[in-house]
Amino acid sequence: MALVDRVLLGPGPSNPYPEATAALAAPLLGHLDPEFLRVLDETCARLRTVWGTENARTLPLSGTGSIGMEAAFANFVRPGDTVVVGVNGLFGERMVDVAGRYGAEVVRVDHEWGQPIDVARMLAAHPAPRLVGAVHAETSTGVRSDIAALAAAVHGRDDHALVLADCVTSLAGIEVDIDGWGVDVAYSGTQKCLGVAPGLAPFTVSPRAWERRVEHPPTWYLDLNLIGAYVDGSNGGRTYHHTAPVAMIASLHAALGRVLAEGLDAVWERHRAAGARLREGLVDLGLDLFAAEGHRLPELTTVRVPDGVDSAKVRSILLNEYNIEIGAGAGAFATSVWRIGLMGHNARLDRVELVLSALARVLGR
Ligand code: PLP
Repeated sequence: MALVDRVLLGPGPSNPYPEATAALAAPLLGHLDPEFLRVLDETCARLRTVWGTENARTLPLSGTGSIGMEAAFANFVRPGDTVVVGVNGLFGERMVDVAGRYGAEVVRVDHEWGQPIDVARMLAAHPAPRLVGAVHAETSTGVRSDIAALAAAVHGRDDHALVLADCVTSLAGIEVDIDGWGVDVAYSGTQKCLGVAPGLAPFTVSPRAWERRVEHPPTWYLDLNLIGAYVDGSNGGRTYHHTAPVAMIASLHAALGRVLAEGLDAVWERHRAAGARLREGLVDLGLDLFAAEGHRLPELTTVRVPDGVDSAKVRSILLNEYNIEIGAGAGAFATSVWRIGLMGHNARLDRVELVLSALARVLGR
């Protein structure tokens, strides 16, 4: 692959923190080396802090964010269980698809793209579901949904349903408080606000969800009972399950160290300030923001492509002449919306000014 040094401001991978990149280049350790197992334990401990949880079962799964989604449905839903899924974008759609493949009776609650999940409608969708799932930060639309309110409403009704949150684009970018909110199962991905390359899915399970897990999920690789034996020795001692992606875990360990050294509050504030300045700058350029006001993610801004402007051409000029990647819209908004990410290492004012000035020039504004 050509060594092109892009500024990655799309919805996909962002530029990793330098500490994460350096760790990838460090000498490799064996996956059962005591030093690696120490790094793995510390990575899980650091993940607990970033998730805001004391959940014993908090670990990085091998695979991208979608593997977290698969693991959630494989381990906590039995065929025939009713699952309520909030759909307000592409990743809610994916939840519906994955839940159905594991045999769930899916009750989907559709929302207009660009709007957050409506808690009352989620609650009214079914009186006693097994699980209620929603996406915290919808990367396809740039919308934040109120997972705290959803979890409070679901658990306030009865003790039957588990709450599942997709935190792929939220973890380490905006507040996530798994224990405080009462979320039972959550997953993320390393390539967004965590500031690592794609390849791991941080995952966390509450004690209540663990009690209700599927004993023999229809997957060997993602069976949390088996993975737990390797990651935390929870089945009576550490035994081999699969060869851990040691370099990726070392990289995540380093990025989490960086985030925690900066402080979670400071990291969230850095994302907030960068997102606010980007929105202000886009409006100053005469552009219209897409996501519903009051629910906009600082780490992923959606903006409408002005009338008469060729979306793909602008993105191509930014990429080829300025080395800046921004994303196209998703689904029906593929050519009418741009998505600009400011995640992790890129949640900085210098990145904001860079993309704003390049965009102004390309648009002739
Ligand atoms: N959920 C959300 C909100 C996402 O943004 C993504 C990816 O962008 C995924 C799930 C799937 O993650 P991955 O592409 O890493 O498998």
